[in-house]
This record gives sequence, structure tokens and C-alpha cells, in this order.
Amino acid sequence: MVNFQQPAKKLPRARLVRAVGVAAFAVWTLSGALRAAELSAAAARASVRADDAKRHVAALADDALEGRAAGSRGGRAAGTYLVDEFQRIGVDPAGDEGGFYQRFGTMRNVLGMLRGSDPEASREAVVIGAHYDHVGYGTPSNSFGPTGRIHNGADDNASGVAGLLEVAEACTLLPRRPKRTLVFALWDGEEVNLLGSSHFVRERPLPLAHHRVAFSINLDMIGRLRGERLEVYGTRSAVGLRQTIVSANLPTGLKLAFSWECSKDSDHYPFLAAGIPTVMFHTGLHSEYHRPSDDAHLVNYAGIEPVTGLALETLLAVADAPASPDFRDVCLAENESGRRQLEAEAPPAPPKRWGLGTRPDAADPTAPLVVRVSPNTPAERGGFRIGDRVVAIDQQPLIDQGDMVARLAQAADRVDVGIEREGRLLELRLVVNPTAGGAE
Ligand SMILES: [Zn+2]
Repeated sequence: MVNFQQPAKKLPRARLVRAVGVAAFAVWTLSGALRAAELSAAAARASVRADDAKRHVAALADDALEGRAAGSRGGRAAGTYLVDEFQRIGVDPAGDEGGFYQRFGTMRNVLGMLRGSDPEASREAVVIGAHYDHVGYGTPSNSFGPTGRIHNGADDNASGVAGLLEVAEACTLLPRRPKRTLVFALWDGEEVNLLGSSHFVRERPLPLAHHRVAFSINLDMIGRLRGERLEVYGTRSAVGLRQTIVSANLPTGLKLAFSWECSKDSDHYPFLAAGIPTVMFHTGLHSEYHRPSDDAHLVNYAGIEPVTGLALETLLAVADAPASPDFRDVCLAENESGRRQLEAEAPPAPPKRWGLGTRPDAADPTAPLVVRVSPNTPAERGGFRIGDRVVAIDQQPLIDQGDMVARLAQAADRVDVGIEREGRLLELRLVVNPTAGGAE
């Protein structure tokens, strides 16, 4: 990094007096600076490390924290750890009374921020959040059992917290702050009906009181990456969001599974309900979910790295975009079954081999009316005329036009069609020669 800036000082002064030289110098210096900035950004991104994630998960999913139930002794100890980490990383406090905590009842969100670099755009905040509470010793309503034992919640959601801390650290190392303000939010009370994130959406602490939240990312359970497959929720909450994430994923190359579900099952929901475009990254459920066995040794630490990298790239892309994303409120009514209906293949159309252009006649549905006889088709060669009424196929009377279409589709290469023309019944023959292109 340093090497790219040193040669600028060694440029011979004489070159500066020549216009061409000045221009070349300017371009060279600019590209050098950009290059240096890019490299430092890369270094910032490289600070996202599996080893660091492992250290955070080990601390949070330790039995000493007793499963981090919101408002409990272990939950409070987890909060203390997180404040220490925010201080070490060097993000600014975004909680109440100049500190990192946003208190509500016996619970505490832990909030950090980095102010945006643009005077206008920095009034908008992009939030990345992860809940740090879990279910403690478990109860029949929040545990799949056995209850009464410490539920360490290593994947749910020490993994997401670890990812968030890594994102926050990377952001402090960037050579240039993004335009919008970055907020790092560790939610309490998620397992008690999304209390922490709901509280934040309702009541902003003082440092963020005048900010508009433009976008948010939720990391919930990112510690079980399998087959490089990452579930992504909420991309339909703004036009272009899916494209942003696909681009952000280019260096990472995860297999992204986009879902249309907008369930109330994690901290993205209060944001979506408040009209804020929001996505969630999630590596999927497993048999240890909400059980005492959700332990640190089962976490895929190498997998946290690319997921966190993707979250970082997505956050920075939105934080620096020319415009903030527009909320698409219909996303709240969308789901996977609607998606299946919308994306289902249309039933195959019956082959148009015969090219008999008819329309049903409400006065007599059993006798479709010929309304078109195209040139060089079996219909024209068979002697059909506009105004003929089709009354039978191969001597069998018709039920309606649909019946006619279905029977023609099943017919062999020649078929006798009974018609009524000017009060007389006639029989015309349709002959199709598929290889001669005789179909309409
Ligand atoms: Zn949970």
C-alpha cells in the first residue's frame, strides 16, 4: 500500500512545467491513489477471518453465558462482551446517553455506528443487525428439547453476531467512509418476539434520531454453510436488490437461494413492516436448531467468511449507491406458493396442425363458426369458407369449440369435418402434411 504513494514525491519537478507532463502526472497520481484505495479496501475486506469468527462464537456460546436469554445474567454478560468488542474495533457508540446500549425493560440492544462521509447522504443510515440473545435453558415454547439444559445457540445466533463484528471491523479499516451512515446493531430479545429490533424501529436512540433508515441486512444463523448454499430473503423488498447481491457475490461465488417468503421469524421483519428494504442471510435450519446441541464445534467457521464477505459487499454497495432503494410494499404479501403459481410452466398449447380458424358462437356452441381461412393451409385446400359452421369431426357431433380443438389435436393426418353451409350439410376433408409445412 505504502509503495504506491511514495513515487509521487520523487517525480522530477521539471516535468510539472510542461502541460502534458502535468496532465500525465495528474492522471498517474489519481490512478495511483485509486489503486491504493482499492488495495486498502481489499485489505479491509481481508480482515474478515474465520479465526476471528471462531473466537467470537467460542466466547458467546460458552456455557458461562448460560444460553444468553434476554434479560438474564448470561444475556447481560454477552452484552458486556459485545460492548468491549465494539470499543476494541473502534466504532462509535449509537446507543442512549453516549453509550452503546439501547435499553428497553430488562433488555439491551448494543448499537455502534460509523458516520457517512457525504453531508447529505450521511443522514441516511444502512443498518446491519444480528440478534445476540438465545433461549437460555429452554422452555417448552422456545425449545425442541431437552429443556433445562444450557442452549448455547452457537449457530443461533452467535454465528451472525460473529459475522457482524467482522463486518464492523472491516468497515473501520476502509480507506474512505461510504456516503451513508453505517449502523451495527446487535439485537436483544429476538427470541422473545423480535423485541429488540422492533424497539429500534419504533424508537431511535439520540445519535440516530434524525437519520432515515434506508436499508437493512439481517444475519441470523450463518454458521452452517453446506454445499456453498446460502438462503437469501427479502430481495423483493426493493427493485434492484437482487442484482446488487448477485454483483456483490461475484468475488465470493456462493450459491444463492433466493426466497420470496417474508416471515415474522427474525429481525428483518420489523424493518420490512416499517417499509424499509431489508434482506436476510441464513445458512439454513438443522436438527440442532433450538436444542442444547447447537454447539460451537458444529459451526462451519470457514463458511462464515464468505457469507460475511457477501454481507459486507452488499452493505457497502447500498451505502455508496447514488440513490437509496425504494421499498416495494407488495413483497409483504408475496410467498413461495405465489411464486410457484407465477413461475409455473403454462400447459402446452395444442399443436396447430390443422389451422382451422374458428370462434365459438354463443347462440350455438355446438357449431363453431369458421372466421379465417388462411392461404396455403389444410383448411384452404380442403375447401373451407368463412361462414361455414363445424358440426362434426369424423361423423361425431361436436360439444363445443374446445371439443373440436381437442379432437383435431388427437386426429390422424386426415380427418373428415362435417360442416353446415347455407343450410346444407357437407363433409370436407382436412389433410395435413406436417413435413410440407401445411399447418397455419
Ligand atoms: Zn432462534
